[in-house]
Parts: sequence; C-alpha cells; structure tokens
Amino acid sequence: MEKTILIKYGELTTKKENRKFFIKILASNIKNLLKNYDISLDYDRVRMYVKVKDQTKVEEVANKLSKIFGIHSIVICHKVESVDASIQAKVLEILKDIKFNTFKVETKRADKNFPISSMEYNNVIGGLVLKNFDCKVDVHNPELTIHVEIRVEGTFIYTNEIKGSGGYPVGVQGNGLLMLSGGIDSPVAGYLALKRGINVNCLYFESPPHTSVEAKNKVIKLANIINEYSGNIKLHVVPFTKIQEAIYMHCKPEYMITIMRRMMYRIATKYAKKIGAEIIINGESVGQVASQTISSMSVINEVTNMPIIRPVCCLDKLEIIEIAKKIGTYETSILPYEDCCTIFLPRHPVINPKLEKCLQSEANYDFDTLIDECINNIEVISNLEPESYNDLL
Ligand code: ATP
Ligand code: MG
Repeated sequence: MEKTILIKYGELTTKKENRKFFIKILASNIKNLLKNYDISLDYDRVRMYVKVKDQTKVEEVANKLSKIFGIHSIVICHKVESVDASIQAKVLEILKDIKFNTFKVETKRADKNFPISSMEYNNVIGGLVLKNFDCKVDVHNPELTIHVEIRVEGTFIYTNEIKGSGGYPVGVQGNGLLMLSGGIDSPVAGYLALKRGINVNCLYFESPPHTSVEAKNKVIKLANIINEYSGNIKLHVVPFTKIQEAIYMHCKPEYMITIMRRMMYRIATKYAKKIGAEIIINGESVGQVASQTISSMSVINEVTNMPIIRPVCCLDKLEIIEIAKKIGTYETSILPYEDCCTIFLPRHPVINPKLEKCLQSEANYDFDTLIDECINNIEVISNLEPESYNDLL
C-alpha cells in the first residue's frame, strides 16, 4: 500500500476549455520543477495525483510542490482498495503515529458502488477510532480531521493538508519582463507576478566597471531563487555603462536619475517586444525614493506605451520585507554590493521632474543609437539551477 500525493488545484477558471489548459500547464510545470525526481502524474478536472517512485522521497516532493503556483493544497495520502476492512486497517495504522485528543471524520463517497453512505461511514470510522484510541469527537474544532475519500480507483485516506502557494500556474498569462535589480523589492515583484501566472523573464542593467561583479552575481543568485517558483526564468543582462556615462556627461545632475530610468524603460520596452513579452514588471513602490513619487513615475512612464505592472507599488517596505523573507530572497538582497555607482547618484534628485526638461537634456546626445547598441549586446544567462549559484557570493 503506497503513499500518493494528492493535489487540489488553486484558483482555476471554471470555463471548461481554460480549465483544461490551466491543468495541462500546471502538470508541465510540475514535471519541469521536479525533473530530478522519478514521478508520474495523473489528473482530472478536480484533482492531480503525484506518484513518487522512491517512497522515502514523498515528503521532500510534497515540500517542493508547496512552492508551485496553481496548487491550493497538497496531501500525502494512503491509497487502499475500496473495501471496508482494508480502509479500517489503514486508518488504524496511520493514526498510531499521530498524537491527538479530538477528531472528526470526513467521508466523501464519490464511488456510489461502495455500499455504505458517507454519513454512515463517518460513524463507522468514528466508532473505530473511539474504540482504539483515548480521544473524543469534536465536529467543530477538531485537532485532527480524518479524510476518507472513496473513489472508483481506490480509497484515499489522509489527515492534515499542506497549504499550497495558490495563484495560477506560471505561463497561463503569457510573458512578462521583470526589471530585476539587486534590491529587496524587485524579486518580490517577480514572485508576485509569477503567482498570477505570468511567465517572467528578468532584465538587469549593469554598468561595469562602476558596478562590481559581486553586484551582478547577487542578481544572478536572486534570479535563481525566484526561478524555484518558475523553472523557466532566464536572466538578460544589459551593458548599460555607455548610457550611464552619456547621461552623466550630457544631462543636468538633478535629472540624471529620471533620465536613467527613462532609458531603462525604453530599453525594456524594445527588448520585451523582441523576446515576445507583453508587459513590464518592476519593483517600484509609491513614494519610496525621489524617482517613485507619482509625478516622477508619470514623467518616466511617458517613454513607453507597454503596460507596466508594479506588484509592490502600494505595499509598505515592511510588508515587502516580510514577503522577501518568506520567499527566501531577503538574505541575498541585503548583501552590500550596490548595483548603481554613487557617482551617478546626484545629491538632490528632482522630486517633481518636468517632461520638457527631460526632453531638452535627452536632445543633447544621440541616445537612440546607444539604446540599440545596448539591446544588441544583451547577454542571456539561462542555466539558472541551484547548483550554479551556491558558490557565487
Ligand atoms: P529594489 O527596488 O528591487 O529594492 P532598488 O531599491 O535598488 O531595488 P529602485 O531604485 O527602488 O531599486 O528601483 C525601482 C525598480 O527599478 C526596481 O525595483 C527594479 O525593478 C528597477 N531597477 C532599478 N535598478 C535596476 C537595475 N540595475 N536593473 C534592473 N532593474 C532595475
Ligand atoms: Mg526600491
């Protein structure tokens, strides 16, 4: 009698065709993220079953599944034939390793050939448990719920559910391009976008030698960590040095950041179109710095007509940090390597930039040629596997 993992889907559409599509993508994401395990998948429109060949790895696999979007909950269940005696024997075997004072039984009889109704069977199993263990029934707030699902293919018995990550399977919503820096906010923004089913690619602007190789490695490591929720992420590195230097030489100091961000958006927009991404995602949060006042955001946003998604835009820093800790990016984000050199940071950046002034400054130099050059020289890092970043920093 083996242990099987049963998956209950997260927020899926109820439309028939979409639902099929979502489940198919979820199945392919699971296969991709668990490619190092020998597993087989079976699914229908309400459930998915994951069989793990090596039964000692069942808990480990369940733990990995809890990170995959599109899953509401995960249960490790024991499958037996749908015969009363087999079910009773299994319930006793499972409960002998669990400590509990109160319990209830929840039977679901999907297989109407099973001769006892769900209500009656609650009583059968309840009586069995009361007879064999020192405990009481509590139907409102039990310490333990014993689930008995009687289905055509067998009966599944399980106790506690592991909470899944929810959301939509990554990929059901098409492609987005995440502006990923080494900070705290953008990895969280990427995680939240993945959660809504967006297939995320990452874009990082580097300015060597003004920014260090450690700063780049930090971003590679962050991309790796969020890739644990996707399995499909590539990091695209933009050589941004010449643009940074040209801004420094030709633009007013207080406008340097506004213009730098306009250049980033221009490059992100062009590149997103090139790789088939339909939206840009970033970690901006209203009011956090001078370039994120709403008037700054408006002047910066003016260079693009692509939708920009800012998943953390209305969260407090502490709320963002809480998510960063939960998803495992925080410790890396707070490493000291900066991804923007201090010479490019003016002492008094404008808080209310004017569009005409940006346009005047930008007319001082042929930025369009530099933008195309940047895009043509983007480096793509695609081997984002945990082993590849362990020794990075
Ligand atoms: P984070 O916001 O991720 O904590 P940060 O605070 O260093 O990093 P901000 O200056 O707040 O970044 O920039 C706002 C957003 O712009 C970032 O969240 C990120 O999406 C994008 N961004 C900033 N710098 C870079 C960069 N070097 N490469 C890619 N994207 C960047
Ligand atoms: Mg920030």
